[in-house]
Amino acid sequence: MYTNERILTNKQSCAKTGYVVLSPIKVMWVGGMILAAIIGGWYTFSVTALFVFIVTTSVILCFGHSLGMHRRLIHKSYQCPLWLEYFFVNLGVIVGLAGPIGMIKTHDMRDWAQRQHYCHDYFGHQQPMLKDFFWQVFCDIKLNHPPTFNIEKCVMQNRVYQWMEKTWMLQQLPLGLLLFWIGGVPWVVWGICVRVSVSVIGHWLIGYFAHNHGQRDWHVNHAHVQGYNVPFAALLTMGESYHNNHHAFPGSANFALEKGQIDVGWLALKKMKALGLVWDLVLPANLPKREELSRINN
Ligand SMILES: [Zn+2]
Ligand SMILES: [Zn+2]
Repeated sequence: MYTNERILTNKQSCAKTGYVVLSPIKVMWVGGMILAAIIGGWYTFSVTALFVFIVTTSVILCFGHSLGMHRRLIHKSYQCPLWLEYFFVNLGVIVGLAGPIGMIKTHDMRDWAQRQHYCHDYFGHQQPMLKDFFWQVFCDIKLNHPPTFNIEKCVMQNRVYQWMEKTWMLQQLPLGLLLFWIGGVPWVVWGICVRVSVSVIGHWLIGYFAHNHGQRDWHVNHAHVQGYNVPFAALLTMGESYHNNHHAFPGSANFALEKGQIDVGWLALKKMKALGLVWDLVLPANLPKREELSRINN
């Protein structure tokens, strides 16, 4: 049985009953970024600024969001020196979704809820697209009987992570200043505001597709929500869109498990392994067998 060690449940814990509330912080943060991206992006567009957006977004999503935040901090699917973990997780904070502890909580709560017999539509992206967009980007969910979190001490009591958590919005500043110094306001608009807006909206969009449409090789029995592989987004998401594979083998450092699937994040990990920067990359074969997992296609 796959269990999430950070989630502590009791008989009352329930993933279904609760309500969605508007988050003033998300409205101001994401709303402000989107507004600045639309207005500022229009007035400051240039090919160079677009290039800055593409480069910063690709590097930050690959090494920050996917390798740092998701595969290392959340799933511990490979080992690396602590300085590299801090660097990658900090890049993950710069994506603009939340701090390290906030990201662990959001991810694990959703992951736990989706594996229950029933869960609130919020967790499975099960409302129509526009409503789901509003919920996921501007709101939070409050469960009536939530489980409690037991996040590992090496994260909760770590001063560096506590600092990143408290200052996650301000973490845009160093990159923002660097961009301003080199390329002025247009680089800041495209390297910060457009990038954060596209990353936050893209994160929601892939989450929506990866729980509603696509292809599946695995079924997690008794789970209310299944993950789907979304191959057309594989390159853009650094392999994260092979979400059916991820639901089946959450601890795997490689999300591309079948012939023809390409996981850019995994390719980057393999290169870093060759350089001696990372080691002990976890694959499905290294994970404990899950009784609740069935193969759909052979
Ligand atoms: Zn999922
Ligand atoms: Zn995950």
